[in-house]
Amino acid sequence: MATTALEVASAVRAGERSARAVVEEHLAVIGEREAEVHAFNLVMADEARERADAVDAAVAAGSDPGPLAGVPVALKDNMCTRGVPTTCSSRILAQWRPPYDATTVERLTAAGAVIIGKTNLDEFAMGSSTENSAFGPTKNPHDTSRVPGGSSGGSAAAVAAGFAPLALGSDTGGSVRQPAALCGVVGVKPTYGAVSRYGLLAFASSLDQIGPFAHTVADAATLYEAIAGHDPRDSTSIPEPAAPVSSWLDDGVDGMRVGVISELSGGGIEGIASDVQARVRVAADALAAAGATVEETSVPSVIYGLTAYYLIAPAEASSNLARYDGVRYGLRVDGPNTEAMNVATRTAGFGDEVKRRIMLGTYALSAGYYDAYYGKAQRVRTLIIDDFAAAYEKYDVLLSPTSPTTAFELGAKVADPMTMYVNDVCTIPSNLAGHPAISVPYGVGDDGLPVGVQVLAPLMGDVTMFRVAAALERSLP
Ligand code: GLN
Repeated sequence: MATTALEVASAVRAGERSARAVVEEHLAVIGEREAEVHAFNLVMADEARERADAVDAAVAAGSDPGPLAGVPVALKDNMCTRGVPTTCSSRILAQWRPPYDATTVERLTAAGAVIIGKTNLDEFAMGSSTENSAFGPTKNPHDTSRVPGGSSGGSAAAVAAGFAPLALGSDTGGSVRQPAALCGVVGVKPTYGAVSRYGLLAFASSLDQIGPFAHTVADAATLYEAIAGHDPRDSTSIPEPAAPVSSWLDDGVDGMRVGVISELSGGGIEGIASDVQARVRVAADALAAAGATVEETSVPSVIYGLTAYYLIAPAEASSNLARYDGVRYGLRVDGPNTEAMNVATRTAGFGDEVKRRIMLGTYALSAGYYDAYYGKAQRVRTLIIDDFAAAYEKYDVLLSPTSPTTAFELGAKVADPMTMYVNDVCTIPSNLAGHPAISVPYGVGDDGLPVGVQVLAPLMGDVTMFRVAAALERSLP
């Protein structure tokens, strides 16, 4: 679909286009390509039509349905939708229908958006390719022999395929930005606490953050403004209204200071493909041409981010996933006593990667190893925060690749978890620090597939991040 979310919303608000027609157009595109792409766990066709009719009725009655009036939004299937299955792409939740809506869902509705379906993900958001879904992988719409990235691969693919102009994902270690890069769309991880996590099924609570996918930076900014802002139901929610990120998009980068992280751009971490590095250099030159001061800079501890993350995130996951015990939610496999029932339920309900994370996390937290693993990882986290703080004394934003490579072949990395984990090397540091970061599509690699450039900003620097991203977008032919 060629139109942006902003164009759809303005046409619907003006009564020039009906929300119902917009939904039908997108359902038609889904009908054409969904069998091949598998972006969705559930297409909510009836609910979407009903919702669109309500939006049209509001417009007809002279009221304004909001900034996202009639815009279809694809929702990652780890956000609660009242009465509608919310599976986390796991067998353990396959039949579960939440009794409440996530805050993001409430806010989307309040902004006039139309939720069009629940998208596929790596089970419990653990993965980088969407191949860990219990319901089969999502394919990259640019080349269906390739992965869309993950874990929000369904949301990224839905936007890239034109199934919806907007989508939401969650980003714990890169799960919005990396699939955005691989699918050639914009993906945002806001400052931790900017968007409520109420109703997001928890993976690693100190890292999880919900963020937008869109075709343009302006669309992503509008979606951000609709979902961000304080929510008393999330104790880590920042007690401030949403940052007005849209207001600054046209202000450019003249006089800004930009640092290209050397460790992630060829000098430090191995495995960053040269065609990806080349696109980051083109982006850096474009910002310099637009008036920014651009230099290479070192953020030494980012190279330890991956290791720290793969202790901290599994540790938190092992605790968060203890609630799936066959009693409170979803699947139950009976046994002769409670313990046997718990074991049988979890054995049948969780996939291999989820079990691997629970074991890694339980081990990292165990009495004898807590200090050596979890404790040390937390100290590395502090080091990363300190190194970023030093860098942001000199620079307004930092630049790096989003993902080390373009989209890889389906099946290429499933056998070796370590090579899969390396996908997150550029995105994880921002999660550990709680900082915002955005992936902007910036041309293609040697294989003709999309490359994303990442703009990183300091805590609460979402406005600056969006502003630089918009400048980067404008610099493309
Ligand atoms: N790929 C990373 C992981 O597997 C990040 C996942 C995420 O951000 N949800 O943990």
